[in-house]
Amino acid sequence: MTIMTNAIIQGDVLEWALEDAGVDRQAVLTGLHLARRGPLDEHLTGPISVPLDVLKQLAEITHRSAYFLALPRPPEERRKSVKQDFRAPSSNDGTPRQLNPEERAAVRLANRRQEIASKLSQDLNAKPVDLARVIANNSSPERAAESAAKWLQWDRRQQYTVLKSKNKVFVALRQALESRGIMTNLVSVEGDSFRGFSLHHDYAPLIFVNASVKSPASRSFTLLHELAHLMRGTDKACDRADLQSRSSEESWCNRFAAAFLLPASDLSRYLEKNLKQTSVLAGDTYALKRISNYFKVSWYCAAIRLKELGFADNRLVDSVSGNFQDPEEQGRAPGKTRAEIRVTEYGYRFARLFGSALSEAKVSQLEARKLFRLNGAELDQLIKLGRGAD
Ligand SMILES: [Zn+2]
Repeated sequence: MTIMTNAIIQGDVLEWALEDAGVDRQAVLTGLHLARRGPLDEHLTGPISVPLDVLKQLAEITHRSAYFLALPRPPEERRKSVKQDFRAPSSNDGTPRQLNPEERAAVRLANRRQEIASKLSQDLNAKPVDLARVIANNSSPERAAESAAKWLQWDRRQQYTVLKSKNKVFVALRQALESRGIMTNLVSVEGDSFRGFSLHHDYAPLIFVNASVKSPASRSFTLLHELAHLMRGTDKACDRADLQSRSSEESWCNRFAAAFLLPASDLSRYLEKNLKQTSVLAGDTYALKRISNYFKVSWYCAAIRLKELGFADNRLVDSVSGNFQDPEEQGRAPGKTRAEIRVTEYGYRFARLFGSALSEAKVSQLEARKLFRLNGAELDQLIKLGRGAD
């Protein structure tokens, strides 16, 4: 005898979750044999009995919990979890493409962390992060990069000589942003997904970097590209096409990132003194490698900066664009303990906010543990890690 255990879910809730996840509704309903109640295009409504394994699959597909799917009605506030003004990444031909379900889930969860951080910051009387003030209107990417570097108290000597790896520079950049109140997330979104996105906010501006991009120098470039979007007040997800765009706002953000990491005077001095050359031709991998290792930048970043400053032409940029991958170290694996992994994913600032909020009883242990998916001892470790970052 087999015992079939079923769960009852509401058609309206299922439809809401499918639409919100941006998945192919018909394929899901047909694949899970949920479409037999009527014509496929008819909106499901009323109670539906589904086997538990189907419920589990639906939860995975929609990135929602089984508990969510069992709600008596769909959430009323905000029909779409991804806001209307959130701009999707560009496809290869430059037109905006749809976010895939994994990306939508990543944006939704980052939004949630941002809302929580905003509430906690205000409960703790933190000041807003005035990012627009950092760059003046109509500022060139170059001048904006210098203002941002000053604001972040970014130490070039540390970048070039003290820190010995590209990953250490990425970590230091994150720290510099976080100490100025910008949340930085490094979470893996698998599949053919965006490189990163920005979510502007007065109290909790957030930059998300996709950890499935393994090159630490590419991560640094994405981080600064997204910082440029944040300072311009845009919420934008960016693909490789955006990060290599040579036109429009995307290009501004790319030039900003490259100028931040490769100041004109330092780069020309390096060319003259260390490489003893006045230009870099396409195919000069020796020079590109030396520059990228000294400044801890990707080959692409070095190439667009050299081009911008007149030390190279577009052939050099083309040679390291598209599917080109730097022959270099991989990003360090996230920490060993679950607390360390969470801090790597969500950033020090988020952990530190929870430390302060817990000590002032603005949030409960249970809420914090649930959000970070950690037990009591692990949460203590996370709070300690957050505190240690100062
Ligand atoms: Zn962008």
